Amino acid sequence: MSFTLAIVGRPNVGKSTLFNRLVGKKLALVDDQPGVTRDLREGEGRIADLRFTVLDSAGLEEATDDSLQGRMRRLTERAVEMADVCLFMIDARAGVLPADMVFAEILRKKNANVILAANKGEGKAADATILEAYSLGLGEPIRLSAEHGEGMGELMDVLRPIY
Ligand code: GDP
Ligand code: MG
Repeated sequence: MSFTLAIVGRPNVGKSTLFNRLVGKKLALVDDQPGVTRDLREGEGRIADLRFTVLDSAGLEEATDDSLQGRMRRLTERAVEMADVCLFMIDARAGVLPADMVFAEILRKKNANVILAANKGEGKAADATILEAYSLGLGEPIRLSAEHGEGMGELMDVLRPIY
């Protein structure tokens, strides 16, 4: 038994940093696998003894003529379909931005199983966002620092019941 975790959220919040931390060195780029596109990188994630498939959404970073909201919607819907649980990441240093609210709305409408994570959570600057994040209506945020490896125990605690 295992599960698939998709990391979603607007550009630059730290999704790929968390993906790389979860996957470690065994970074598997699997563009050739069916159902996996360039927009959703797949790897084998691990926290302590917990193992799972992890998807990093990267499809919003490229500039195209297509509207960002349309791409957000399509990418998020695909992630929800492919994953058992979505880790919705916001940037604790930036605060809750309008684009985050759009994501939250998509996830709520899709009835997705969501873990809300406030990344870049190291330091006092993140405190206000942690409180603000409750307004997204996705429950209690977990505080992460993907770069510094903080909050991995809390992430493991919320993932374990799914496992
Ligand atoms: P993505 O666009 O969501 O995939 O974001 P990236 O993983 O590419 O990270 C965007 C920027 O945020 C990079 O400069 C990272 O080094 C930085 N970053 C990621 N995680 C953290 C963190 O926990 N704390 C801080 N301070 N910076 C972070
Ligand atoms: Mg990325």
